Amino acid sequence: MAEFTMELNDEQKEVRDWLHGFAADVIRPAAAEWDEREETPWPIIQEAAKVGIYSLDFYAQQYFDPTGLGIPMAMEELFWGDAGIALSIVGTGLAAVGVLANGTEEQIGTWIPQMYGDVNDVKVAAFCSSEPDAGSDVASMRTRAVYDEAKDEWVLNGTKTWATNGGIANVHVVVAVVDSELGSKGHASFIVPPNTPGLSQGQKFQKHGIRASHTAEVVLEDVRVPGSCLLGGKEKLDERLARARERAKSGGERVKNAAMATFEASRPAVGAMAVGTARAAYEEALEYAKTRTQFGRPIIDNQGVAFQLADMRTSVDAARLLVWRASWMAVNGKQFTAAEGSMSKLFASETAKKVTAQAIQILGGNGYTREYPVERMHRDAAIYTIFEGTSEIQRLVIARTLAGMPIR
Ligand SMILES: Cc1cc2nc3c(=O)[nH]c(=O)nc-3n(C[C@H](O)[C@H](O)[C@H](O)COP(=O)(O)OP(=O)(O)OC[C@H]3O[C@@H](n4cnc5c(N)ncnc54)[C@H](O)[C@@H]3O)c2cc1C
Repeated sequence: MAEFTMELNDEQKEVRDWLHGFAADVIRPAAAEWDEREETPWPIIQEAAKVGIYSLDFYAQQYFDPTGLGIPMAMEELFWGDAGIALSIVGTGLAAVGVLANGTEEQIGTWIPQMYGDVNDVKVAAFCSSEPDAGSDVASMRTRAVYDEAKDEWVLNGTKTWATNGGIANVHVVVAVVDSELGSKGHASFIVPPNTPGLSQGQKFQKHGIRASHTAEVVLEDVRVPGSCLLGGKEKLDERLARARERAKSGGERVKNAAMATFEASRPAVGAMAVGTARAAYEEALEYAKTRTQFGRPIIDNQGVAFQLADMRTSVDAARLLVWRASWMAVNGKQFTAAEGSMSKLFASETAKKVTAQAIQILGGNGYTREYPVERMHRDAAIYTIFEGTSEIQRLVIARTLAGMPIR
């Protein structure tokens, strides 16, 4: 186990500074343009690929940092640059993690490289779980996957929604129902390879924030994928379903949901994105408050403004500490006995919403315009309390964990 320290080591500082440089020199200057265009910023993704930020290797390196701080540090810096562009850069990771968590070695080796493409031909990937009637309530998912034994193929039908990179992805990872009697235990994940007939993009959403990130419906009509596209393979699925059926029949004790443990480990990464946006808005507000003069003195000379900045900075630092704690726990195999991952996501995302609103207030009329970035940051921040589990769902998970109640 790595020794606990609050200090980043030299290597981490080097990576952080490198990422910060990319965020400041490449991402931030392009943020307003891509927000207005509401399009995927392909040239920036390509730039990120060229320098090595858009690649599985980079994320794997950060993921295996024994302190656990590699991923949150990377997320904070990239999202400090701009949330919409950063999500376009890291969105593929969500699908890649789906394959890493459930796929065989062969599936990992085959599909993850195709998710990223190469420097001269970058690709993105999408993770499709949410549906129009199954957002927070994942168990009510309707997309079906039926096995065609004669052809060793799975046939997928349904409509997915809110998919980041949905329809523009080279590889889609789709979660579908294989046994409707078993609720979320009857779900399985499938790779839909590039150019598979029957998969199409539905509505592309026009959003409040993170507008450079593409979000769309994905329609699946008799999509046939080879048996090898079932993540983890058929044998493992059959064993898992048999165990779940056995437990359902005997009315046996609910086993600890492995998916919940995965969420606890992945939620701090979203918290770190929120910390990045919150910190960016705080820094803008601090600089503005030091230079904007009213009544013959900088506005920071007013306690009403200065105390807001003190609270903003305190919240940003507290959010980061919760994120770092949960990330450290995840890599060191600590049990999330108080849903510490959910706690970090809840606090950081609510902080981002609040701090970006305070930043607008400190910038006054300028804060309310698109001439200054805090207006965009505030629109962007609203997503953190919604995706990867809303704030209400985080509270539900924390409360049920504290009460020792099962989490569905
Ligand atoms: C920009 C964007 C990108 C996304 N990217 C992806 C993606 O890549 N892949 C993917 O699969 N999904 C993605 N999502 C979907 C996202 O995870 C869902 O929007 C989220 O889980 C909430 O589901 P919902 O929108 O259906 O809201 P609902 O579940 O309908 O919730 C509506 C409201 O009711 C509250 N609520 C619901 N149940 C309870 C309860 N039991 N107790 C208290 N309050 C409750 C919620 O907190 C919320 O305030 C994305 C969403 C957005 C907006």
